[in-house]
Amino acid sequence: MTNTFASDLLTWYAHNKRSMPWRSDSPDPYRVWISEIMLQQTQVAAVIPYFERWMQAFPHIGALAEADQEEVLKLWEGLGYYSRARNLHKAAIMVMSEFDGVMPNTVDDLRKLPGIGAYTAGAIGSIAYGLDVPLVDGNVKRVFARVFEIDTPINTPAGEKEMWAKAETLVPAGQAGDYNQALMDLGATICRPKNPLCLLCPVQQQCAAQAQGLQGELPVKKKKKPVPHYDVAAAVIQHDGKLLIAQRPQDKLLGGMWEFPGGKQEAGETLPETLVREIQEELAMTIRVGDHITQVTHAYTHFKITLDAFFCEWVSGEPQAIECADWKWVTVDQLTDYPMGKVDRTIAAVLQSAS
Ligand code: SF4
Repeated sequence: MTNTFASDLLTWYAHNKRSMPWRSDSPDPYRVWISEIMLQQTQVAAVIPYFERWMQAFPHIGALAEADQEEVLKLWEGLGYYSRARNLHKAAIMVMSEFDGVMPNTVDDLRKLPGIGAYTAGAIGSIAYGLDVPLVDGNVKRVFARVFEIDTPINTPAGEKEMWAKAETLVPAGQAGDYNQALMDLGATICRPKNPLCLLCPVQQQCAAQAQGLQGELPVKKKKKPVPHYDVAAAVIQHDGKLLIAQRPQDKLLGGMWEFPGGKQEAGETLPETLVREIQEELAMTIRVGDHITQVTHAYTHFKITLDAFFCEWVSGEPQAIECADWKWVTVDQLTDYPMGKVDRTIAAVLQSAS
């Protein structure tokens, strides 16, 4: 069973492998690493232009290590989960200082690098270095749950453990790179979350879900708790023809990115009152809140927000970086130069189209 599963997949992959800029007959560990980090939570088609731009800017690990964090974040802007970009940068610096500039070639050493967990180490180890190591991602979990009728919820520690144990038993010696990529391609293109294309599937003869019509029931997922929602306000503070932007602290969500300062509305406050309080706490400035600019809603991993942005006037106080990493007065045109998350980029776009 095991051998048939892997060999059927490999035969299928030889004829159906998707062409991607980081795939090659002699894969470069750096390119594999960058592509794997970009592909987490993001579709291949969306990743390709980011990957191309990244490779132009940072063609090798040394170039990434020498870059400014802001340049790295700017190239990542729009991909989300910005800790991934910060970790890539930190890891490149570590490769240069602790591994003589060469991407480590064992799973244990790879996992010493920031942002590289079991999945990414398995991907780099098997694809770039030909190690006989497995990997498990969302696609692999879905395929395994269906083929082997595993009903442990896949988003629990027990499910995770079971999937990795299963994966260990299936890796074909000497072909782990192609096999792992085949598995992920199968999950992405054939064994899709909804409406899997079982008639085209190379492992349909071995698939328990297909035999019993359980494709819609598997994989099982434990229901997540509903995420909280917050009302948030942002201040576009104007003074002498410029606007104030603040840089988020490194250890916070969107660390290192720039934003229009503000914060969460507290009980009993109006949104303008929120802004007056937040700007005083964050920057020690007094402002007057003016017209409403726009409303933006956004879902982060653990919460959702509805954000209202307002024009504000500077009244008094030199800005001080109390609850932010830095601040700057910039022109509307300069907003493009600073890395921003989706919500703040939306506000910037509204300001730029109005100016
Ligand atoms: Fe997925 Fe269908 Fe293939 Fe089973 S037969 S692995 S459910 S696509």
